[in-house]
Amino acid sequence: MNLEIIAVGTELLLGDIVNTNAAWLSKELAGIGINVYRHEVVGDNMQRLQSAYGEAFSRSDAVIVTGGLGPTADDITKEAAAAYFGLDMFLHEETLAVVSDFFGRIGHAMPESNRKQAVFPVGARILANPGGTAPGCIIERNGKICILLPGPPREMQAMFNNHVRSYLRAFSDGVLVSRTLRLVGIGESAMEEKIADILQSQTNPTIAPYATNRAGEVILRISAKAADEAAARVLIAPVADMLYQRLGTYIYGEDDDTLAEIVVEQMKLRGLTIAAAESITGGAFAAAIIDVPGASRVLQEAVVCYSNDSKVARLNVSPRTLKKYGAVSPQVAEEMAVGAAKSANTDVAVSFTGIAGPDGGTDTKPVGLCYIGVYHDGGCVVKEFRLFGDRRRIRDRAVAHGMDMLRKSIMAGQQ
Ligand code: ATP
Repeated sequence: MNLEIIAVGTELLLGDIVNTNAAWLSKELAGIGINVYRHEVVGDNMQRLQSAYGEAFSRSDAVIVTGGLGPTADDITKEAAAAYFGLDMFLHEETLAVVSDFFGRIGHAMPESNRKQAVFPVGARILANPGGTAPGCIIERNGKICILLPGPPREMQAMFNNHVRSYLRAFSDGVLVSRTLRLVGIGESAMEEKIADILQSQTNPTIAPYATNRAGEVILRISAKAADEAAARVLIAPVADMLYQRLGTYIYGEDDDTLAEIVVEQMKLRGLTIAAAESITGGAFAAAIIDVPGASRVLQEAVVCYSNDSKVARLNVSPRTLKKYGAVSPQVAEEMAVGAAKSANTDVAVSFTGIAGPDGGTDTKPVGLCYIGVYHDGGCVVKEFRLFGDRRRIRDRAVAHGMDMLRKSIMAGQQ
C-alpha cells in the first residue's frame, strides 16, 4: 500500500510549529511496511485542502491527515474530506455524549462549537480520543482510505497506536525492520570508503550511512523488508556481521545506546571507579555520565579546573609544566588526569584541555586543538585532537572522544 501524509495548519506554514507528526508517522509506517510516498502541509483553507486530497488520492491508496479536527471555524479537515468524497455529515450521538461528559468532568458547560467535533462524514469509522476532545475517523470510499487524526502529537500518537497501526497492518505485505550501528571516531565519508563495496552490493537489507546530531558520531542503519520481524532480523544479521568485521573498533553500540551508557556499563562490570578533570568541557563529561542511571557506582568526582590556578590547587598540576608548555598541552593533560585519579583515589581518570574558540587560538595552538588524557592501570595516555565546529560542537566532540578513549581503554586494555 502507498500512503501520503497531509498535515493541516496555517501555523505549520508560518513556521510557528514544526511538522513532527509527519516524521513520527513515517517512522511508524515504515515499521509496518507501508510505503510513505509524500508529505504535504496545507493551510486551513477549504479549497486547497480539497485539492490536496485530490492530488494525494490520484497517486496513492491511502492518506493520513493530521490537525484541523478542533471545534473552531478554521478546523475544516472533516468537512473538506466529506466534500471531496461527496458525503453528507451526521451527528454521532455517542461522541457528543463523550465530548459533553469531558466538559462536565472539568466543570464547564460544553460550548456549542464543540458539537462540531461529534459531526462526521456518513459511513466514517470513529476513533476515540481519550486524551482530548477531537475524535478521529477513517473513511473508506471508492477503494481509497482517508484517516483523519488530531493535531496535538500526544493525541495523534495515542490514536495511531490504539487504532490505526493494527488497521493498516492488514494492508501491508511485510514489515521493515532496522538495526542501527553507532560509530565514533570516524567521519561519514571515511566510513563510507571502508565499506563502499558492501554498500553497493546490498538491496535487501539496504545500508544507509548517516551523520547524527550527536557530536563525533555517525550511524549505519541496516533495514530489511520481510514477512515478519524474525525473518527481517535473519536477513540483517550477516550484513551486520560483515560491518562489524570491517568497522568493529569504531562501533560502540547499537540502536538507542549512548557512549556514556556503554562506558558506565563497562566500568560497572569491572568494578572500576573514575574521576574527571575538565577544563574545555566544563563539566559536560560528568553531566553525560550522570545522565546514566547507576552512575554513582562509578563516578567519584569531577573537577572543573578552568583556570591555571585551579589546575594547580585542585589537581596538583605543576606551575612549571604550565609555564613551560601552556595549559593546552599533552603534558598538562597528563598531569590533570594523574592528579584527578590521585585526589579522588580512583582506578581511572580522564582529563580535557583545549581551545574551544571562537577566540584564543594561535598559529601553533589553533581553535579546536584539544588534548585528552586517560589514566588507567597506573599509566596515562594522551591524545591530540583537532576538533572543528563552533564552541559548543568542539566541546561536545571533546566529550565524545574522551568517552571513546575510555571505552577502548577499559574494554581492550588499549588506548
Ligand atoms: P484541537 O482540538 O487541539 O484543536 P486539532 O486536530 O484541531 O486539535 P490543530 O488545531 O490543527 O489540531 O493543532 C493543535 C496543536 O497540535 C497545534 O497548535 C500544534 O501544537 C500541534 N500540531 C498540529 N499539527 C502538528 C504537526 N503536524 N506536527 C506537530 N504538532 C502539530
